[in-house]
Amino acid sequence: MSNYALVPDQVWDGKAATTQVGLAVVVDGANIEAVIPVDALSPDQMRIDLAGCTLIPGLIDAHVHYSAVMGPAFLAAGVTTIRDVGNDLEWILAQRAQHAADPTLGPAIVCCGVLHDGLSAYWSQMGQAHQDAEALRASIRHHVARGVDQIKLYANIDLSLMRVGVEEAHRLGKFVVAHLGSTRAEDAVKIGLNEIEHLDQCGVAWRAATPAEDDEFIALLLNHQVVIDPTLVVWDRLGRILDRSFHHDERRQWTHPCHLDLWQRYLSRREPPHRRLRFQAAMPHLKRFLARAHAQGVVTALGTDTPFPHLFPGFSVHDELAMYVDAGLHPVDALRAATSVNARVLGIADCVGQITPGFVADLVAVRGNPLDNIDDISNIVQVVHAGHIFTPAELLPVAQATFHTQPDDAITRDLLAYVNRATT
Ligand SMILES: [Zn+2]
Repeated sequence: MSNYALVPDQVWDGKAATTQVGLAVVVDGANIEAVIPVDALSPDQMRIDLAGCTLIPGLIDAHVHYSAVMGPAFLAAGVTTIRDVGNDLEWILAQRAQHAADPTLGPAIVCCGVLHDGLSAYWSQMGQAHQDAEALRASIRHHVARGVDQIKLYANIDLSLMRVGVEEAHRLGKFVVAHLGSTRAEDAVKIGLNEIEHLDQCGVAWRAATPAEDDEFIALLLNHQVVIDPTLVVWDRLGRILDRSFHHDERRQWTHPCHLDLWQRYLSRREPPHRRLRFQAAMPHLKRFLARAHAQGVVTALGTDTPFPHLFPGFSVHDELAMYVDAGLHPVDALRAATSVNARVLGIADCVGQITPGFVADLVAVRGNPLDNIDDISNIVQVVHAGHIFTPAELLPVAQATFHTQPDDAITRDLLAYVNRATT
């Protein structure tokens, strides 16, 4: 099917405050050819009727550690682009190329290569240790030469090494994302870091803070044009890792049994309750900070950290959207974060994240209207990725066909080593 028109009840373009009625989206090959009134369609135009549905741009998950077994689940959840923020360099470059050549394999991939870590690497497969500034510079140069999209710095990088990493990446024209551990956010922001993952080391975001305290940090983020990618859902899941309701979540059927088993054996399950309570207690603070930062204009991406515990590939984007709305964002702002804003943060805003002529035909038809009720995002009827049409029902057996073999990738190996630490 190379040329067809999607005819939903409503279209949301990824940016506007509201949906529009009476529009058809014409797809030609991999791209959106036109967005025109339904009345203007020629009588012989092939049409796909999406009565009762809202058509929105394909969703983007800005924080993933990709495993090839996740491809069908991402598509079924309407996630047509992901940013991999830590993986084996050559493996993820190969996945990116394969998915670009054959979009039916899974979402389009924007990638960072390894987690550039400090003197020791927290994750031995996804991460890489750097003994000094020259080693870090050399690795970043190598990553850029191999063609990564962005650079990721990790938790054991101290301030002096972070300064080197940011400088080298910027010299080569690359945007820098960090999971902060050894460096305070205030310091990282001042040396030019572009994006903070998980709100780690953002002190006020984790505690009861006064509006003035929030605003002081928010002003710093605004002055330095720093993007935040809160990934609230990973903190919530770590806080509630023992919550048995996850065992009854029907979205488990999309998740590889090996990953379900890793969640079941995740070490923090055995930690004393106060370790989990710390995350549970932080949730209202993180949400308060997100809402205040967003309202003041901090660019807010949306990611998940799939496949950490209870983060169903693709579907956890729906959970993160619901958390943004619970925090106080209007559903349209949560959806902008997952579409047009994420596209801008990932550097692909010229072709992805909006329903507009010339853009890649990445589209999701959901029953209802998620701008009115964010939960409608889960009512996925049809997904289009680079012009290819999918339904969740067709994708489920494709996902489950991968369940017979053990995934062999950096994230799975790292999580296996992590849970096995318990017995050694
Ligand atoms: Zn991560």
